[in-house]
Amino acid sequence: MSDTFKALLLTQEDGKTTCNVTTLGNADLPDGDVLLAVDYSSLNYKDGLAITGKGKIVRQWPMVPGIDLAGRVIESASSAYQPGDAVVLTGWSVGEKYWGGYSQRQRVQSKWLVPLPDGMTARQAMAIGTAGFTAMLCIMTLEEAGVTPESGTVVVTGASGGVGSIATSILAKLGYKVAAVSGKADAADYLRQLGASEIIDREEMNQPPRALEGQRWAGGIDTVGSTVLARVLAETSYNGCVAACGLAGGADLPTTVMPFILRNVSLRGVDSVMCPVPRRQQAWRRLVTDLPADALGEIGQVASLEQLPELAEEITYGRIKGRVIVDPNL
Ligand code: NDP
Repeated sequence: MSDTFKALLLTQEDGKTTCNVTTLGNADLPDGDVLLAVDYSSLNYKDGLAITGKGKIVRQWPMVPGIDLAGRVIESASSAYQPGDAVVLTGWSVGEKYWGGYSQRQRVQSKWLVPLPDGMTARQAMAIGTAGFTAMLCIMTLEEAGVTPESGTVVVTGASGGVGSIATSILAKLGYKVAAVSGKADAADYLRQLGASEIIDREEMNQPPRALEGQRWAGGIDTVGSTVLARVLAETSYNGCVAACGLAGGADLPTTVMPFILRNVSLRGVDSVMCPVPRRQQAWRRLVTDLPADALGEIGQVASLEQLPELAEEITYGRIKGRVIVDPNL
């Protein structure tokens, strides 16, 4: 095995973030009990903010970003993992506070890992990544709140993005009617292919709602926040639930208490970063069974480390359809 390998390194000087593909050795890697060969990583909205420096994501410099990775164990000081084991890592502040997936090799903490689920390849795991994992957590949250395919339509906002695409696909496979909200004029065919039965223009959902609107949704998965989430809440039916995981449209929430106190609507937050390991394993197992295998072909495109600065810019403008799989070995 070569002594050196390729990684994307972020540095900061005078508040400006600089991004370069560079050569590192094992001695440059941080502490950790497991050394991994990274097969794939992925690009998430948060990675876009980190690479472009548009969001205060990185908390330690220099940083190898990439909040996701899938790879194989090279060396392990943990009894839980042996050389050759295939593993997945998402969240735990990797790519923010700790070095992440945009590298051919990485050293991490074994407690952050989950085994690659049976029936899933590393590439599929990264087509899913944090975005798809979060989509699954949102769906589990709706199920726990009693939303079933018989309850009515589920609305998904930011539907052509990473979380939205995978949420749409899974919900459709589980038998839900899905209304997909998108700002991309050309995304309708893509979203119908993923299983959406109704496409709604983002502008329509971006109109400030009255305290209560007509009841349209049994449930919602919101990746956008702000006025769009406020409208979803005002349009959610009696006893419905909305799982909120994102802020692509803003971190504010201009709503009233009316949906909660008059319609028994619940708003549940979903965080993937600190999600406990048993729930992670449950979500990854569900992703094997509940995400249509052919959907990942539609959803994923592959990029090299060198292509990431440009793609990072694109994702911060909401211009990426589906998911970007990162192959550091390209
Ligand atoms: P993407 O960029 O892939 O998708 C976001 C989508 O939101 C875009 O494709 C676009 O979809 C829509 N959008 C973009 N800008 C706006 C805007 N100004 N107003 C309304 N809609 C907009 O990101 P991800 O799917 O990876 O992540 C989505 C959100 O979820 C992000 O805010 C991210 O930080 C958050 N997230 C949170 C996690 C958690 O643990 N809570 C984990 C993963 C993601 P369209 O054009 O179809 O409308």
